Amino acid sequence: MSENSWRDPSSFIEQIFVEESCLELPYTKEILHRTQLPCTIVPDRGKPNDLDKNYVDNLTAGKRQLFLCKNRGIFFKPCPGTREYQCCDYQVLNTGMNCPIDCVYCILQAYLNAPWLTFYVNTEKLFLELDEALLTNPDRFFRIGTGEFTDSLAIDRLTGLSRLLVNYFAQQKNAVLELKTKSGVIENLKGIKHHGRTIIAWSLNSPIIMKREEIRSASLDERLAAARCCAEWGYKLAFHFDPIIDHPGWMEGYAETIRRLYEEVPAESIVWISLGALRFIPSLKEIGIQRFPHSNIYYQEFIEGLDNKSRYFRPNRVKMYQFIYNCLKEKAAEETCIYFCMESDEIWREVMGFIPAEKGGIPLMLDQTVISR
Ligand code: SF4
Repeated sequence: MSENSWRDPSSFIEQIFVEESCLELPYTKEILHRTQLPCTIVPDRGKPNDLDKNYVDNLTAGKRQLFLCKNRGIFFKPCPGTREYQCCDYQVLNTGMNCPIDCVYCILQAYLNAPWLTFYVNTEKLFLELDEALLTNPDRFFRIGTGEFTDSLAIDRLTGLSRLLVNYFAQQKNAVLELKTKSGVIENLKGIKHHGRTIIAWSLNSPIIMKREEIRSASLDERLAAARCCAEWGYKLAFHFDPIIDHPGWMEGYAETIRRLYEEVPAESIVWISLGALRFIPSLKEIGIQRFPHSNIYYQEFIEGLDNKSRYFRPNRVKMYQFIYNCLKEKAAEETCIYFCMESDEIWREVMGFIPAEKGGIPLMLDQTVISR
């Protein structure tokens, strides 16, 4: 790994905090042994320090601190899609909050109110919740992801959670797990009998956006090299072009990423690819501008959508989607499902020539892609 590489963003972490009642858990001990970083004990239900008092200003400092604690809420719940747009019916496994990468557009900046990285070590409860949901709904097929409130693999070198999850899902008949990342941390995925029940996914963007707006993320080369290894280990793959960002040279940028993707990764290994243009709530814009004064992604013309999020004007979105969709279609395998994340039927029809309902809806389209392989 070169000196400037962020293939493994967990190297940004400098300090560990542990909630007192978690100290004796074997999993906590395992993580502490792996990190070899200074560790401070925090009283139960307490907090590591006062960095949260100046939350957004301290967010970068907080990303250097990992807090191992209990999840006293729910691990497993549906994705917070909206009623106004076509949603993919994804279930979220909440393994922790925040991540050491720092994307200018990251929605968590506006949702969180504490700057630390949080990781829940009471995984026994996580697996109990999964057991209950999967066993009591044997006729339902679950697509489950851990990448909603964090990056699925960015701190996996320290936690090793991916191995536990991949082994668990390998035994499940009615579920697949999607691990979504902007890192290249795949070492823990090697040599596991995953039985095709885990999909490894990367967020991709135009190379210049990955470099400028996704701070401490793996480069395009590093992400694709990791994806190629996972394909060789028999994993199915997925890619997410989200958020698609309008910037000078966007056509060349997205075309290059797609060309490199299909040079590196076998087309047949890709189960799905999602497309979603930049969207954000007003408070995120304020935070983004304050934290990243050199970024200009928020200085464009936007329109407010039905979910109160700002989006590019429809003709602009359609133009970008059509270009990217056509580039993908030239190279994609017949079975790869290309879909929009949170777009209207009108956009589907205009870009892809059909609406999800004609194919049974997005959830069924995605389920069939996995089940039929
Ligand atoms: S990788 Fe995901 S969770 Fe981490 S900063 Fe970027 S958008 Fe946020």
